[in-house]
Amino acid sequence: MREGRFADEPSAGRAAHPGATPDFDVAPFLVIWEVTRACALICRHCRASAEDRRDPRELTTDEGRRLLDAVAGMGTPIVVLSDGDPLQRDDLEDLVCHGKAAGLRVGAIPAETPRLNRERVASLAAAGLDQMALSLDGARPETHDAFRGVAGCFDIAIAAAAWAREARVPLQINTVVCADNAAELPAIAELVERMGAVFWEVFLLVPAGRGALLSPCSAEQAEKLLGDLVELAARAPFLVKIAEAPHYRRIAMERGLGAAPGAERRGPGRMGLSPMPVSAGRGFCFVDHVGDVHPSGFLPWPAGNVRTGALADIYRHSGIFRALRDANRLRGRCGRCEFRAVCGGSRSRAYALTGDPFAEDPACAYDPPAGPSAPVARP
Ligand code: SF4
Repeated sequence: MREGRFADEPSAGRAAHPGATPDFDVAPFLVIWEVTRACALICRHCRASAEDRRDPRELTTDEGRRLLDAVAGMGTPIVVLSDGDPLQRDDLEDLVCHGKAAGLRVGAIPAETPRLNRERVASLAAAGLDQMALSLDGARPETHDAFRGVAGCFDIAIAAAAWAREARVPLQINTVVCADNAAELPAIAELVERMGAVFWEVFLLVPAGRGALLSPCSAEQAEKLLGDLVELAARAPFLVKIAEAPHYRRIAMERGLGAAPGAERRGPGRMGLSPMPVSAGRGFCFVDHVGDVHPSGFLPWPAGNVRTGALADIYRHSGIFRALRDANRLRGRCGRCEFRAVCGGSRSRAYALTGDPFAEDPACAYDPPAGPSAPVARP
């Protein structure tokens, strides 16, 4: 008997809605799988408060393969192997290979430790990895390493970018931004370009896990910072994705740039941006290291487990996922906002700061007109 049951396996290899508008009631655009929580770093903003020890309850290789089949089977195009340090798993290349064979675009986010070396990057490239993401939370070793909690991470990131170029793996840079490093963002953007990245994901801190000890950006700071990123996204030689700050779409629309500036450009990266707004439970889901399925890694609300239920069923039918896809459930300013269908605020931040996943996003400065919900703005 196989370990665990995966009811929605496989109709692998089906490409997801190529060229069509995705239906996020049916399948997410992106699934992140926390392949392990083990990590040698002690990042100040870690959601998972990771430890350098693998959990014996982690999904096995076989279960991981079936999960990848289930992701492909529901029509999702992209899976990212993440969290903790995926390089702690010796079967990572096997999983990448399996995901590729299932028809998925597969990314990975290795931690900047000595496990990340030229040989391992080449091995992941040979397995077919589509994109490798590195973290960069400061433009200088002192600032980046202070975030990561371990000296030397910055140098490993710079070296790993060169190994990725050598192995022809498109490079993504991930940056967590909060009040502590916001001033360094322009310098980080310059470094992202110099490193040859094709994709920059800027994540507005959600104060959860260890990140609760950092200072989040105020709504006014976030407004300025997102405005700068919207302008950058329209002209940068790399794609810019902004995570946990969907109000950048409102800002972009107010400036006449459309809801996703730069999304029409195609670089050498293989991941691409979703043509539709993606947020917790709406175009996105997170599978943790033991197989629990959450709307987001920052919205720890397990809706089922892939060992006992079908991933597609959990995503499509569970109460929390359905509720998060319904903009009419939003409250406060988000509930009466005309941008709620393209934005909706960060549900993860609302939950982290208020305990209510449908509350208004405290990091947004917009105050919609009072009264009944305004008509929804179109991108
Ligand atoms: S009020 Fe809420 S829905 Fe409106 S722009 Fe701000 S975060 Fe988005």
